[in-house]
Amino acid sequence: MEIEFLGGAQEVGRSAILVKTREAKILLDYGVQLSEPAPSFPSHVAPRDLDAVILTHAHLDHIGAAPIFMLNNNMKTYATPMTYKIGDILLRDFLKLAGYYLPYEVLEVRELIKKGVEVGYGETVKIKDAEISFIDAGHIPGSIQVWINADKTLLYTGDFTTIKTRLLKGADLAPKDVDAVIIESTYALEDHPERKSLEREFVNRVREVVEGGGRVLVPAFSVSRSQEIMCVLEAYNFNEPVYVDGMALKVLDIYLEMNEYIDGRQLLYQAAKHINRVTSNKKRRQALSEPSVIISPAGMLKGGPAIIYAEEIAEDERSAIFLVSFQLPNTPGAILLNEKRLVHGEVDIKVKANVEQYKFSSHSGRTQLHQFLKRFNSDVKIFAIHGEPEASNNLVNFCRENLGQEASSPRIGEKYVI
Ligand SMILES: [Zn+2]
Ligand SMILES: [Zn+2]
Repeated sequence: MEIEFLGGAQEVGRSAILVKTREAKILLDYGVQLSEPAPSFPSHVAPRDLDAVILTHAHLDHIGAAPIFMLNNNMKTYATPMTYKIGDILLRDFLKLAGYYLPYEVLEVRELIKKGVEVGYGETVKIKDAEISFIDAGHIPGSIQVWINADKTLLYTGDFTTIKTRLLKGADLAPKDVDAVIIESTYALEDHPERKSLEREFVNRVREVVEGGGRVLVPAFSVSRSQEIMCVLEAYNFNEPVYVDGMALKVLDIYLEMNEYIDGRQLLYQAAKHINRVTSNKKRRQALSEPSVIISPAGMLKGGPAIIYAEEIAEDERSAIFLVSFQLPNTPGAILLNEKRLVHGEVDIKVKANVEQYKFSSHSGRTQLHQFLKRFNSDVKIFAIHGEPEASNNLVNFCRENLGQEASSPRIGEKYVI
């Protein structure tokens, strides 16, 4: 079996891995890197050289370049129905924002979604000599790990977490007996705060601000994080008004409809009943006119309605902006966090509202990664990807020194035979 890393190696973004068994050529993910001014793509791979593309989950760094394969070809893609459904929304939105730089159009997105082969957790498909199974990755609803059984066995974790959250129960564990594992290493250097205490601390601070007459803006990614925050508030019986805006509502409706993917189904129903849906400017003004929580994309304040709310509450000392995810350097979210300034287009405001960060993550932290890797034998080969070089290398050293495993953090363009 040969493995070639086409993107997402020694970096986060544009994930793409080409796996060749004796007979089959399978591409695992084909994402984009959301770099400025234009997104970047993984190395090129000719569609005629592929038997199938497997998409692990609906984040642009895993699916953003996949419609390329529908340009003049009927590529067979495999993903869960949820990934196709959310992927459709994200790819169309991506076309609106960055269409000028993209080598495909809405027609290709439509083809990808329409012709995609749907697979479920625990299911196995056969592609030439390869048996491919799909394992719950616990990252976002519909996310999978990929297990390939051919001349050798290979596990690709995709993005995963073993931590239970309000929406998901955490990743299922693949069989221990495997020749090679390709693992994400996003948080190989960092442990996440204990989930329950993080939740409690977040809800307590939200309560304090709202009871003091303030408004709390929670900029959150539309997919999964917004709904997770809704559920956290509901779980602690938060009774004050909660407003949800933007694409997060579309995604919420899909989660409610395809609820077999949601572990905390009942809680999500309750939370959905509690919220006020913001679908007009009038409603937006209403949200801002009373002590409330406003959950709105984008998570790093890069566009989306969140930036409109942020401008409104920036100078109000009683109000707060609570960031609930990692903030990429140089995004408005990172600048807000580090310098207490709201910078966006012409706008540059000194922020008087409270700014805090709560790291709700959907990736495995350092300890979870270590525990996950301990399960495998010492003759396994580990490839650490989807991380900054320091993080990937750190995980590699852990495997070598503590587990006696052969490990590497490949660079883009490198090929390995296992
Ligand atoms: Zn992801
Ligand atoms: Zn990712």
